[in-house]
Amino acid sequence: MHTNNSEKEAVPIFYGKRAKEEEIENILVDTEIYSCIDDSCIGWMRKDFVTDDLLCPMCGNEMMSEIRELPKI
Ligand SMILES: [Zn+2]
Repeated sequence: MHTNNSEKEAVPIFYGKRAKEEEIENILVDTEIYSCIDDSCIGWMRKDFVTDDLLCPMCGNEMMSEIRELPKI
């Protein structure tokens, strides 16, 4: 008995091009940050990432808290 058992599995290929481009929504939320007290310095940090001494990462000056609209993270 000879059985030809070479059925090809026809798997449709629908993968690969799906959801590649996730839409990145820029949702701005009021975020507490610390910004440098030096007006000429652009240094600031999110409160979540601020250092213990609250010093500016750019120039080492003090920073003060401030509310800024930032993209959600
Ligand atoms: Zn600074």
